[in-house]
Amino acid sequence: MTKPTDDAVYKTLLESTRAIPWKIDWSTMQFAYIGPQIEELLGWAPDSWKSVEDWAGRMHPDDRKWVVDFCVAQSKSGVDHEADYRALTKNGDYVWIRDVVHVVRDANGTVEALVGFMFDISERKRTEERLLQLQRELEDLSFKDGLTGLLNRRRFDVLVETEWRAARRTRSPLSLVMIDIDHFKQFNDHYGHVRGDDTLKRVASALKTGASRPRDFIARYGGEEFVLVLPETDELGADRVVARCRDAVGKEAIRHERSSVGSFVTISAGAGTIIPAADSSLLAFIDSVDRCLYRAKQAGRDRVIALGA
Ligand code: GH3
Ligand code: MG
Ligand code: MG
Repeated sequence: MTKPTDDAVYKTLLESTRAIPWKIDWSTMQFAYIGPQIEELLGWAPDSWKSVEDWAGRMHPDDRKWVVDFCVAQSKSGVDHEADYRALTKNGDYVWIRDVVHVVRDANGTVEALVGFMFDISERKRTEERLLQLQRELEDLSFKDGLTGLLNRRRFDVLVETEWRAARRTRSPLSLVMIDIDHFKQFNDHYGHVRGDDTLKRVASALKTGASRPRDFIARYGGEEFVLVLPETDELGADRVVARCRDAVGKEAIRHERSSVGSFVTISAGAGTIIPAADSSLLAFIDSVDRCLYRAKQAGRDRVIALGA
């Protein structure tokens, strides 16, 4: 085969693949070539791709800085690389592109040109998005709270109902403790959410040391609220558990400069015990324990108030 035929074959091959080939001269930073497929994908005609400015300018503003910085740095050091970014289409939409770049060097190792392929990865990105969404849904369906590892609210709703029915059947006392971190909003405002999240984890694991019987369980009830369910436990037992929990939180000694209570993170609690009768309402019971917690807050925080006290 003669050389021109080879060239024609290569050109046909390059221009009929879905990947879009391109070449940039390093010395001038101008496009030496871009495959005609680019127009079909983004709407911009091949001859409108003149310099790297056109490339950078047709990129999502949020991607532009890191992609340009990264590609320039890699090219300067002669390293092949790839980058995913959103490319602007002529009608104002964005398409996810993977740009795979090969650095061409001369015999002395000096960078001569960049050649590469752009791939349309929007379908892959959509799949990734769907997977992430699915993962979030699975998390919702799971039993555990993602941050603290405690049972989540959904699980609490189911388990507390089970224990409620068991207590009614066996006429045994069921204790419930609602716990809320004191002045946690100020903690977040002062120390930031990362420290806030870390504190939630530490308080959660401190609470775990308080309620230790096999059937006891702790759930994250809301943002910085926890609930302990203590089956076959009377007032005295619940009292002891809460004391251990407050102790354990105190031992964590998490500084809280913005608390009105003291210099460390504290918790307030409401506690209640019931032997459910046939006509007792679980929701009403939870609500009455919640009101105890509210009273503990009103009374100055860092304390526990028990139902009937
Ligand atoms: P009080 O002593 O009366 O309970 O005051 P508080 O500030 O703790 O109560 P409030 O209900 O006003 O605020 C709760 C705050 O808890 C709001 C938010 O800053 C924080 N919070 C809730 N959930 C999370 C979370 O998942 N992570 C972090 N870091 N903070 C959270
Ligand atoms: Mg709260
Ligand atoms: Mg609070």
